[in-house]
Amino acid sequence: KAQESGGGSFLFYREQMDLRAKEDLMLEAELRTAVNEGQLELHYQPKVSLRSGRIVGAEALIRWRHPERGMISPGVFIALAEETGMIHDIGTWVLEEACRQIGAWRNAGLVMPPVAVNLSARQFDRRLPARILAVLDRHGVLPEQIMLEITESLLVGGADNVVAIMNELVAMGLALALDDFGTGYSSLAYLKKFPISTLKIDRAFVVGLPHEESDCAIARAIVTMAKQLRQEIVAEGVETEEQMAFLRDLGCDQLQGWLFSPAVTGAEFERMLRDGDRLSVARAA
Ligand code: C2E
Ligand code: MG
Ligand code: MG
Ligand code: MG
Repeated sequence: KAQESGGGSFLFYREQMDLRAKEDLMLEAELRTAVNEGQLELHYQPKVSLRSGRIVGAEALIRWRHPERGMISPGVFIALAEETGMIHDIGTWVLEEACRQIGAWRNAGLVMPPVAVNLSARQFDRRLPARILAVLDRHGVLPEQIMLEITESLLVGGADNVVAIMNELVAMGLALALDDFGTGYSSLAYLKKFPISTLKIDRAFVVGLPHEESDCAIARAIVTMAKQLRQEIVAEGVETEEQMAFLRDLGCDQLQGWLFSPAVTGAEFERMLRDGDRLSVARAA
């Protein structure tokens, strides 16, 4: 009897696996179409200075406008893109689109804060600096206009060629930010080895501020360390006034989160910049 039910649950598991595999295959095929047919979009989430209350940067976040299923978030397709290698094409599109948009904003006379672009570890090869340089040139965009957000997975192991590529990017004038800080497995010693100018505290530690003691301790430790290392510090996923107040008292430099604005279309972000929007940030300064 036990044998039977065990076999049954195994079969059930197999069916689930097959279903999952089928769904992934479908998604993969559809994602290829999305890349080729222009269904991808970049949206922009403002980064706000705690000192001035102004927009001092933006993070470009990819969106998939699916013809039937509506807007699909990167959480659903970036991992698949990384597994299948499609991240190369998608990553190239993201860089191209960000630079096109920055160039268009500059041509329209806007004074643009730097735009951060997320990079997957798989995009990080020795041809990356030359590729980025070509895209910047094509759109007449200065390297200082771009920040690259990378994750700790890239640092683990501390491969020498990774350090070399980072140094090359920094020498070109691009800035590097370490995303989702505190969620990975890198040791603090890595921070010294890599030319990273900005740390982003992951939302996981912001969410419990100021009520969860452990989140408060972690946030405090990260900010203290970043200051010692002279790194800028950005907190992600700020949703409440209380979180903002706590992060301000810690001496955090920039905040990003729904308290101010979610990621918005390029047109909407342009409007915010033109209006010198202070969002709910007026209260931050
Ligand atoms: P991330 O780089 O850590 O981006 C921050 C995520 O937090 C974004 O999710 C953003 O919409 C969300 N967020 C911002 N403020 C708040 C808030 O106050 N509350 C909550 N609950 N969430 C907030 P999104 O856009 O779904 O992106 C998820 C992840 O997908 C990103 O995490 C990044 O790792 C990846 N991703 C996004 N765009 C790209 C891209 O162009 N290339 C690559 N390789 N990865 C990307
Ligand atoms: Mg990011
Ligand atoms: Mg992040
Ligand atoms: Mg995050």
